[in-house]
Amino acid sequence: MEGIKEIKKAGTIAHDILKQACARVGEDVPYSEISDFVDKAIEKAGAKPAFPVNISVNEVAAHYSPDRNEDKLFEKGDVVKIDLGVHVDGYPSDTASTVIVGENPKGEKLKKAAEAALKAAGEALKPGRSLQEVGKAIGNVITSAGFQPIRNLTGHSMARWNLHSGLSVFNFDAPNEVIEPDTLVAIEPFSTDGAGKILESKPSSIYRLLAPVPQRLPGAKKLLQRIVNDYETFPFAQRWLEAKELLYLPQLVASGAVHRYPVLMEKAKGLVAQSEHTFLVGEKDVEITT
Ligand code: MN
Ligand code: MN
Repeated sequence: MEGIKEIKKAGTIAHDILKQACARVGEDVPYSEISDFVDKAIEKAGAKPAFPVNISVNEVAAHYSPDRNEDKLFEKGDVVKIDLGVHVDGYPSDTASTVIVGENPKGEKLKKAAEAALKAAGEALKPGRSLQEVGKAIGNVITSAGFQPIRNLTGHSMARWNLHSGLSVFNFDAPNEVIEPDTLVAIEPFSTDGAGKILESKPSSIYRLLAPVPQRLPGAKKLLQRIVNDYETFPFAQRWLEAKELLYLPQLVASGAVHRYPVLMEKAKGLVAQSEHTFLVGEKDVEITT
Protein backbone atom coordinates (compact mmCIF):
# COMPACT_ATOMS: atom_id res chain seq x y z
CA MET A 1 0.00 0.00 0.00
CA GLU A 2 1.30 3.42 -0.91
CA GLY A 3 1.69 6.29 1.53
CA ILE A 4 1.96 4.23 4.72
CA LYS A 5 4.64 6.53 6.09
CA GLU A 6 2.55 9.63 5.36
CA ILE A 7 -0.63 8.02 6.72
CA LYS A 8 1.10 7.22 10.01
CA LYS A 9 2.69 10.64 10.27
CA ALA A 10 -0.67 12.34 9.66
CA GLY A 11 -2.18 10.09 12.33
CA THR A 12 0.45 10.79 14.96
CA ILE A 13 0.28 14.54 14.43
CA ALA A 14 -3.53 14.54 14.66
CA HIS A 15 -3.40 12.42 17.82
CA ASP A 16 -0.96 14.76 19.57
CA ILE A 17 -2.74 17.95 18.57
CA LEU A 18 -6.19 16.63 19.51
CA LYS A 19 -4.91 15.80 22.99
CA GLN A 20 -3.48 19.29 23.43
CA ALA A 21 -6.57 20.98 21.97
CA CYS A 22 -8.87 19.10 24.36
CA ALA A 23 -6.71 20.13 27.32
CA ARG A 24 -7.23 23.77 26.36
CA VAL A 25 -11.03 23.61 26.47
CA GLY A 26 -12.43 25.19 29.63
CA GLU A 27 -14.99 27.62 31.02
CA ASP A 28 -14.81 31.07 29.36
CA VAL A 29 -12.22 29.93 26.81
CA PRO A 30 -13.08 31.31 23.34
CA TYR A 31 -13.76 28.71 20.63
CA SER A 32 -11.30 30.64 18.45
CA GLU A 33 -8.48 29.90 20.88
CA ILE A 34 -8.88 26.21 20.04
CA SER A 35 -9.12 26.71 16.28
CA ASP A 36 -6.12 29.08 16.28
CA PHE A 37 -4.13 26.59 18.32
CA VAL A 38 -5.01 23.69 16.01
CA ASP A 39 -4.30 25.66 12.81
CA LYS A 40 -0.88 26.75 14.10
CA ALA A 41 0.07 23.40 15.64
CA ILE A 42 -0.61 21.54 12.38
CA GLU A 43 1.53 24.00 10.47
CA LYS A 44 4.31 23.77 13.07
CA ALA A 45 4.29 19.98 12.74
CA GLY A 46 4.99 20.34 9.03
CA ALA A 47 1.58 19.06 7.97
CA LYS A 48 -1.69 20.54 6.70
CA PRO A 49 -5.29 20.38 7.92
CA ALA A 50 -7.39 17.77 6.09
CA PHE A 51 -10.39 19.93 7.07
CA PRO A 52 -11.05 22.82 9.49
CA VAL A 53 -11.26 21.70 13.11
CA ASN A 54 -14.91 21.16 14.05
CA ILE A 55 -15.82 22.54 17.48
CA SER A 56 -19.39 21.40 18.02
CA VAL A 57 -21.12 22.02 21.33
CA ASN A 58 -24.11 20.30 23.00
CA GLU A 59 -26.89 19.69 20.43
CA VAL A 60 -24.61 20.74 17.58
CA ALA A 61 -23.27 17.42 16.31
CA ALA A 62 -20.75 18.56 13.71
CA HIS A 63 -19.50 21.11 11.17
CA TYR A 64 -19.17 24.15 13.38
CA SER A 65 -15.86 25.94 12.99
CA PRO A 66 -15.19 29.47 14.25
CA ASP A 67 -14.95 32.32 11.82
CA ARG A 68 -12.52 35.22 12.26
CA ASN A 69 -13.24 37.30 15.38
CA GLU A 70 -15.48 34.58 16.74
CA ASP A 71 -16.37 35.56 20.30
CA LYS A 72 -18.24 32.48 21.55
CA LEU A 73 -16.99 31.13 24.87
CA PHE A 74 -17.30 27.64 26.34
CA GLU A 75 -19.70 27.48 29.29
CA LYS A 76 -19.95 25.27 32.35
CA GLY A 77 -21.60 21.94 31.48
CA ASP A 78 -20.91 22.16 27.73
CA VAL A 79 -20.46 18.89 25.85
CA VAL A 80 -17.72 19.82 23.38
CA LYS A 81 -16.71 17.71 20.38
CA ILE A 82 -13.29 18.51 18.92
CA ASP A 83 -12.91 16.82 15.53
CA LEU A 84 -9.76 17.44 13.51
CA GLY A 85 -7.93 16.10 10.49
CA VAL A 86 -4.37 16.32 9.25
CA HIS A 87 -2.89 15.42 5.90
CA VAL A 88 0.67 14.75 4.82
CA ASP A 89 1.04 15.04 1.06
CA GLY A 90 -2.68 14.33 0.68
CA TYR A 91 -2.76 11.28 2.97
CA PRO A 92 -5.37 12.01 5.67
CA SER A 93 -6.14 11.30 9.30
CA ASP A 94 -9.39 12.10 11.09
CA THR A 95 -9.94 11.95 14.84
CA ALA A 96 -12.32 13.35 17.46
CA SER A 97 -12.90 13.48 21.20
CA THR A 98 -15.52 14.85 23.55
CA VAL A 99 -14.65 17.18 26.42
CA ILE A 100 -17.06 18.11 29.21
CA VAL A 101 -16.62 21.64 30.59
CA GLY A 102 -16.97 21.44 34.36
CA GLU A 103 -19.71 19.03 35.40
CA ASN A 104 -22.36 17.36 33.30
CA PRO A 105 -23.18 13.79 34.46
CA LYS A 106 -25.34 13.06 31.40
CA GLY A 107 -22.61 14.41 29.14
CA GLU A 108 -20.03 12.19 30.84
CA LYS A 109 -22.21 9.13 30.24
CA LEU A 110 -22.68 10.06 26.59
CA LYS A 111 -18.94 10.54 26.20
CA LYS A 112 -18.22 7.16 27.80
CA ALA A 113 -20.81 5.47 25.55
CA ALA A 114 -19.23 6.96 22.39
CA GLU A 115 -15.75 5.93 23.53
CA ALA A 116 -16.83 2.40 24.46
CA ALA A 117 -18.62 2.12 21.10
CA LEU A 118 -15.44 3.13 19.26
CA LYS A 119 -13.45 0.53 21.18
CA ALA A 120 -16.01 -2.16 20.31
CA ALA A 121 -15.95 -1.01 16.69
CA GLY A 122 -12.17 -1.39 16.57
CA GLU A 123 -12.47 -4.93 17.88
CA ALA A 124 -15.13 -5.81 15.28
CA LEU A 125 -13.11 -4.34 12.41
CA LYS A 126 -11.26 -7.07 10.45
CA PRO A 127 -10.05 -7.27 6.85
CA GLY A 128 -12.45 -9.30 4.72
CA ARG A 129 -15.31 -8.87 7.19
CA SER A 130 -18.57 -7.00 6.68
CA LEU A 131 -18.73 -3.50 8.10
CA GLN A 132 -22.19 -4.47 9.32
CA GLU A 133 -20.41 -6.11 12.27
CA VAL A 134 -18.83 -2.77 13.14
CA GLY A 135 -22.15 -0.92 12.96
CA LYS A 136 -23.81 -3.59 15.06
CA ALA A 137 -21.10 -3.30 17.75
CA ILE A 138 -21.46 0.50 17.86
CA GLY A 139 -25.26 0.41 18.04
CA ASN A 140 -25.25 -2.26 20.78
CA VAL A 141 -22.90 -0.36 23.07
CA ILE A 142 -24.75 2.94 22.74
CA THR A 143 -28.26 1.54 23.14
CA SER A 144 -27.12 -0.60 26.11
CA ALA A 145 -26.01 2.63 27.77
CA GLY A 146 -29.56 3.95 27.33
CA PHE A 147 -28.80 6.32 24.46
CA GLN A 148 -29.27 6.51 20.69
CA PRO A 149 -26.54 6.34 18.06
CA ILE A 150 -26.89 9.03 15.41
CA ARG A 151 -28.05 7.09 12.38
CA ASN A 152 -27.45 9.61 9.64
CA LEU A 153 -23.81 10.31 10.48
CA THR A 154 -21.31 7.68 9.40
CA GLY A 155 -17.67 6.76 9.40
CA HIS A 156 -15.97 6.65 6.00
CA SER A 157 -13.12 5.10 4.08
CA MET A 158 -10.42 7.56 3.01
CA ALA A 159 -7.74 7.73 0.36
CA ARG A 160 -5.17 10.24 -0.84
CA TRP A 161 -6.89 13.65 -1.27
CA ASN A 162 -10.20 12.01 -0.46
CA LEU A 163 -12.02 12.02 2.89
CA HIS A 164 -14.91 9.86 1.64
CA SER A 165 -13.58 7.24 -0.73
CA GLY A 166 -16.67 5.05 -0.98
CA LEU A 167 -17.37 2.98 2.13
CA SER A 168 -19.65 4.24 4.89
CA VAL A 169 -19.56 2.87 8.42
CA PHE A 170 -22.98 3.08 10.04
CA ASN A 171 -23.44 3.65 13.74
CA PHE A 172 -26.10 0.92 13.95
CA ASP A 173 -26.83 -2.58 12.64
CA ALA A 174 -27.43 -2.24 8.89
CA PRO A 175 -26.36 -4.26 5.82
CA ASN A 176 -22.97 -3.08 4.60
CA GLU A 177 -20.01 -3.98 2.44
CA VAL A 178 -16.95 -6.07 3.22
CA ILE A 179 -13.83 -4.08 4.04
CA GLU A 180 -10.85 -5.23 1.98
CA PRO A 181 -7.22 -5.20 3.18
CA ASP A 182 -5.25 -1.98 2.64
CA THR A 183 -8.13 0.32 3.46
CA LEU A 184 -7.94 3.47 5.53
CA VAL A 185 -11.18 4.06 7.44
CA ALA A 186 -12.43 6.60 9.98
CA ILE A 187 -14.97 5.28 12.47
CA GLU A 188 -16.98 7.78 14.48
CA PRO A 189 -19.75 6.77 16.87
CA PHE A 190 -22.05 9.59 17.94
CA SER A 191 -24.22 9.06 21.03
CA THR A 192 -27.19 11.22 21.99
CA ASP A 193 -30.05 11.44 24.47
CA GLY A 194 -32.11 12.92 21.63
CA ALA A 195 -33.74 11.35 18.56
CA GLY A 196 -30.60 9.81 17.04
CA LYS A 197 -30.83 11.92 13.92
CA ILE A 198 -29.23 15.15 12.76
CA LEU A 199 -30.79 17.91 10.69
CA GLU A 200 -29.06 20.52 8.59
CA SER A 201 -29.05 23.89 10.32
CA LYS A 202 -27.62 27.29 9.35
CA PRO A 203 -24.66 27.63 6.96
CA SER A 204 -21.26 26.97 8.53
CA SER A 205 -17.91 28.59 7.76
CA ILE A 206 -16.66 25.31 6.22
CA TYR A 207 -16.50 24.93 2.42
CA ARG A 208 -15.26 22.42 -0.14
CA LEU A 209 -14.48 22.40 -3.85
CA LEU A 210 -17.18 20.64 -5.87
CA ALA A 211 -16.09 21.28 -9.47
CA PRO A 212 -13.85 23.83 -11.21
CA VAL A 213 -16.84 25.60 -12.81
CA PRO A 214 -15.46 28.40 -15.07
CA GLN A 215 -15.68 31.86 -13.48
CA ARG A 216 -16.23 35.17 -15.26
CA LEU A 217 -14.95 37.56 -12.56
CA PRO A 218 -11.13 37.64 -12.39
CA GLY A 219 -11.20 37.65 -8.56
CA ALA A 220 -13.44 34.58 -8.50
CA LYS A 221 -11.21 32.84 -11.04
CA LYS A 222 -8.16 33.53 -8.90
CA LEU A 223 -9.79 32.33 -5.69
CA LEU A 224 -11.02 29.13 -7.35
CA GLN A 225 -7.52 28.43 -8.63
CA ARG A 226 -6.09 28.92 -5.17
CA ILE A 227 -8.69 26.55 -3.67
CA VAL A 228 -7.85 23.91 -6.30
CA ASN A 229 -4.11 24.33 -5.65
CA ASP A 230 -4.13 24.54 -1.86
CA TYR A 231 -7.02 22.34 -0.73
CA GLU A 232 -8.07 20.24 -3.75
CA THR A 233 -11.23 18.51 -2.49
CA PHE A 234 -10.37 18.86 1.21
CA PRO A 235 -12.71 21.20 3.12
CA PHE A 236 -11.40 24.64 4.06
CA ALA A 237 -12.40 27.38 6.51
CA GLN A 238 -13.62 30.86 5.74
CA ARG A 239 -11.05 32.18 8.23
CA TRP A 240 -8.21 30.82 6.07
CA LEU A 241 -9.08 33.22 3.24
CA GLU A 242 -7.98 36.83 2.99
CA ALA A 243 -10.52 39.66 3.07
CA LYS A 244 -10.26 40.34 -0.68
CA GLU A 245 -10.67 36.63 -1.45
CA LEU A 246 -13.76 36.42 0.79
CA LEU A 247 -15.55 38.85 -1.54
CA TYR A 248 -15.68 36.17 -4.23
CA LEU A 249 -16.60 33.18 -2.08
CA PRO A 250 -20.40 33.70 -2.44
CA GLN A 251 -19.94 33.77 -6.21
CA LEU A 252 -18.14 30.41 -6.13
CA VAL A 253 -20.94 28.94 -4.02
CA ALA A 254 -23.66 30.37 -6.29
CA SER A 255 -22.02 28.96 -9.41
CA GLY A 256 -21.81 25.48 -7.93
CA ALA A 257 -18.00 25.44 -7.81
CA VAL A 258 -17.87 25.34 -4.03
CA HIS A 259 -20.14 23.74 -1.44
CA ARG A 260 -20.87 25.46 1.86
CA TYR A 261 -21.56 22.94 4.63
CA PRO A 262 -24.50 23.43 6.95
CA VAL A 263 -24.07 23.11 10.71
CA LEU A 264 -25.49 19.73 11.81
CA MET A 265 -27.90 19.82 14.75
CA GLU A 266 -29.47 16.96 16.71
CA LYS A 267 -33.13 16.73 15.66
CA ALA A 268 -34.58 16.67 19.21
CA LYS A 269 -31.90 19.08 20.51
CA GLY A 270 -30.34 16.19 22.45
CA LEU A 271 -26.82 16.37 23.80
CA VAL A 272 -24.32 14.75 21.44
CA ALA A 273 -20.98 13.08 22.17
CA GLN A 274 -18.54 11.73 19.58
CA SER A 275 -15.37 9.65 19.50
CA GLU A 276 -13.35 8.99 16.35
CA HIS A 277 -10.18 7.28 15.20
CA THR A 278 -8.63 6.48 11.85
CA PHE A 279 -7.90 2.78 11.31
CA LEU A 280 -5.49 1.29 8.83
CA VAL A 281 -6.82 -2.13 7.83
CA GLY A 282 -3.93 -4.29 6.65
CA GLU A 283 -3.74 -7.81 5.24
CA LYS A 284 -4.19 -9.36 8.69
CA ASP A 285 -4.02 -6.60 11.26
CA VAL A 286 -5.82 -3.40 12.04
CA GLU A 287 -3.87 -0.46 13.34
CA ILE A 288 -5.10 2.83 14.82
CA THR A 289 -3.19 5.66 13.14
CA THR A 290 -4.56 8.39 15.41
MN1 MN B 1 -13.83 13.66 12.06
MN1 MN C 1 -14.74 11.47 10.01
